Amino acid sequence: MIDLLVAGGGPAGLATAIHAARRGLQTVVIEKRPGAIDKACGEGLMPHAVRELGLLGAHPAGVPFRGITYLDGKRSVSAAFASGPGLGVRRTALHRALLDAAGAAGVRIETGTVGAVTQDDDGVCVNGIRARYLAAADGLHSPVRAGLGLHRPGPATRRWGFTRHVGVAPWSDCVEVYWAADPAAGEAYVTPVAGDCVGVAILSSRQGGFDEHLAAFGALRDRLAGHPNEPDRAAGPLRQRVARRVVGRVLLVGDAAGYVDALTGEGLGLSFAAARTLVDSVVADRPADYERRWRKTTRRYRLMTAGVLRASGSPLRPLIVPAARLAPPVFTRIVNLLAE
Ligand SMILES: Cc1cc2nc3c(=O)[nH]c(=O)nc-3n(C[C@H](O)[C@H](O)[C@H](O)COP(=O)(O)OP(=O)(O)OC[C@H]3O[C@@H](n4cnc5c(N)ncnc54)[C@H](O)[C@@H]3O)c2cc1C
Repeated sequence: MIDLLVAGGGPAGLATAIHAARRGLQTVVIEKRPGAIDKACGEGLMPHAVRELGLLGAHPAGVPFRGITYLDGKRSVSAAFASGPGLGVRRTALHRALLDAAGAAGVRIETGTVGAVTQDDDGVCVNGIRARYLAAADGLHSPVRAGLGLHRPGPATRRWGFTRHVGVAPWSDCVEVYWAADPAAGEAYVTPVAGDCVGVAILSSRQGGFDEHLAAFGALRDRLAGHPNEPDRAAGPLRQRVARRVVGRVLLVGDAAGYVDALTGEGLGLSFAAARTLVDSVVADRPADYERRWRKTTRRYRLMTAGVLRASGSPLRPLIVPAARLAPPVFTRIVNLLAE
């Protein structure tokens, strides 16, 4: 019997597997897609996520950014990170670096689709593989989570993410967040990911094509016009409510464990931090501890993201950028609470 089986080899699954293998656990990852996987993502690693990557021994090529800029079409305001730069990094580069680190740690990766999960007092069984524990890292719509009946209904207003890579040299050393006047049109993020490429992510409560969404951000649309782009991607609904993160010997990590919104760009850093916590609980043979520790690790992010999300959908929305400009220390403090 192996020690830890990981369902899903995205960033959360690979981070979990790397930490586990390094702690001496025999670890197998089952991922349905081979190679370096692309996915709709803003691709901005906040400073704490960069530190977590270092702990994982993963060093992808990317573009450092020094903070966050908010823009509303009329004005802009920037806040610098106090604890070092963030990193804009393409998902494929991130995934390749994590795969390399997993290989170096001795993780076995199998290509396959995770099927039904059964468990007893001593272990779990998936696809004929028996393990002491299962980490479900199978993403936003986690089939393992659904199979365990842990999914809870989301809010009435749903949001989706739409992404595109554009072949243009980055023009800012910050991640830019453009706030559309109409709350339903949402926010557009621009992250520098290479010397000749930016990633654009739009979060919106409307469905539709990327160009349709981009039309709500006139200045950004004009800046991107005429530059080549890669095929668009989409993901959502973003909000995923989860009853709990531990059922017997199955522990949920990454987006599978629950997701608020991409508004504050925290998903990867939290996935990496939760992966460490999960492995601590497995090594201690105390899986139930993970729920409490997950809540503690993610509390600030969940509360702050939910707070910004509420403000963004309220009559306060038009005041967000002017208020940040009027009180730069407050804006900088909020940005750094999320970056730490
Ligand atoms: C539009 C958007 C913008 C974002 N921007 C940012 C950002 O700027 N910064 C940031 O930190 N985070 C951002 N995020 C969040 C970030 O993308 C996620 O938090 C992160 O990808 C979570 O990783 P994961 O491994 O949990 O899930 P995933 O990356 O989705 O990986 C799950 C893996 O499980 C596999 N899988 C699923 N089902 C099965 C199965 N049955 N069998 C085998 N394998 C399976 C999938 O193939 C996949 O590889 C953004 C998200 C979105 C949608």
